[in-house]
Amino acid sequence: MKRRLFEFTCPFCSKSYFLARDTYLIRDANSLEYQRLKDGSYFRHQCQTCKNVFDLEYPLIYRDPRQNLSIIRTQGEVNGLSGKAVLTRNTRQFLEAFSILDLQLDLKEVLKIKRAYEKECGRTTRVVDYDAKKGILWLDQSGSLIGVGYSKSES
Ligand SMILES: [Zn+2]
Repeated sequence: MKRRLFEFTCPFCSKSYFLARDTYLIRDANSLEYQRLKDGSYFRHQCQTCKNVFDLEYPLIYRDPRQNLSIIRTQGEVNGLSGKAVLTRNTRQFLEAFSILDLQLDLKEVLKIKRAYEKECGRTTRVVDYDAKKGILWLDQSGSLIGVGYSKSES
């Protein structure tokens, strides 16, 4: 694990401050970091001055050794990584990719399903679980769970 100091500016009160954040994480299902990635709160930060909550944007490399996969939140180029790499441009995209890839599902296929539901209901939808036995993809839409029939294609 690597940590770095970043300067952030609160979008609400414009106050800027330095925070140390991990820039490299390895999947550990028992860690607090993993739990926070799972529930989508990993990048969330509360400004100590105005108490508003916002997402911190900074570069992060996340490694999933099970799949020899990296999920990267970056604005630039990344070199020297082995295995498959998924590049994302902001924390929202990163968490979206993480929620699908951590379940070892096909990113493109599941994104398509998720987008279709968001369009239909006009609300943000999060992929929360996959039941491989029953072939059900679980989506969270503002706190209510929706089960969608989906069969993971074997590769
Ligand atoms: Zn603030």
